[in-house]
Amino acid sequence: MQLRLWHYDLPLRHTFTISRDSIDVQPTVIVELEQDGKRGYGEATTDRYYGVTLESLTEAIGRCRPIIESFTLGRPADLFDRLLPELDDHRFALCAIDEAAHDLWGKLENQPVYRLWELEADQLPLSNYTIGIDSIETMVAKLREFADWPIFKIKLGTDRDLDIVRRLRAETDAVFRVDANCGWSADETISNARVLKELGVEFLEQPLPANEWEAMRRVRRESVLPVFADESCQREEDVACCDGFFHGVNIKLVKCGGLTPARRMIDAARQRGLRVMVGCMTESSVGISAIAQLLPLLDAVDMDGAVLLAKDIAQGVTVERGVCRYPDRPGCGVELTEQGRQLL
Ligand code: MG
Repeated sequence: MQLRLWHYDLPLRHTFTISRDSIDVQPTVIVELEQDGKRGYGEATTDRYYGVTLESLTEAIGRCRPIIESFTLGRPADLFDRLLPELDDHRFALCAIDEAAHDLWGKLENQPVYRLWELEADQLPLSNYTIGIDSIETMVAKLREFADWPIFKIKLGTDRDLDIVRRLRAETDAVFRVDANCGWSADETISNARVLKELGVEFLEQPLPANEWEAMRRVRRESVLPVFADESCQREEDVACCDGFFHGVNIKLVKCGGLTPARRMIDAARQRGLRVMVGCMTESSVGISAIAQLLPLLDAVDMDGAVLLAKDIAQGVTVERGVCRYPDRPGCGVELTEQGRQLL
């Protein structure tokens, strides 16, 4: 295979704020793998919380170049297993390579990835649309802009959380999910859950800081709403740790290292009776199209990343009003539409 690496700055439609951070432009890298005239693409965004920068991604992926370029792609999992020892500490880089390997695999086999996995696409969960933290007026305006979506994920962790949800509820009958991104205590979570359940919230995502396991066990017992792990569930081994502390897990491809470990995590979660959601970063249609291949396996999905962008860089899976549509193309269906800056 041949490896190329591209940098793009993704402009966001709105400043995106969560409990700990705020961004207007999302830097991202695209891995391109070429074999037999076909090109596959994968993506990893930069991320302050996880300490991932353009430089660290370029260094990590560049260090694997000799392995990748001497490798002939068969099953993507074989490349993942070969690279894991090199990139164990850099899952975002591993994710971009693993997604590209899957896209390329499908293109070489001339089949969508989900079909190569023998999955059926007749009953797919709807994606939520995420409303970042802002003034209540701006959060209402963001909801109105996407008023025809069936599910909204509301980012909380402010001093006016319940007011925000009450005000948004006055706008729509849609399903709500809440993500506090580690911003609440156990007492707050248990008491907020009572109010939020009345306000039509379906579940809570990561209310407590990632390492507060004992408090989380209490929340798991006393919360009237189901609780999903996000920051507490990053890698394959974390699924077992979440059993008994959460009702479900939110798997993200960049956190675990791509589609190969995500599929293993889904299997592990199912065996333990945990519900399964897959989430996205603010990534382009490259990363979103990879996530979409997992849809038939999921209870819930947050794949609005490309919808949050003012300008996309690729064509692939589309998400409109929460409905995912696969393109009539093999692999993950990704074609780049913009020229990036070449890093490798
Ligand atoms: Mg989250």
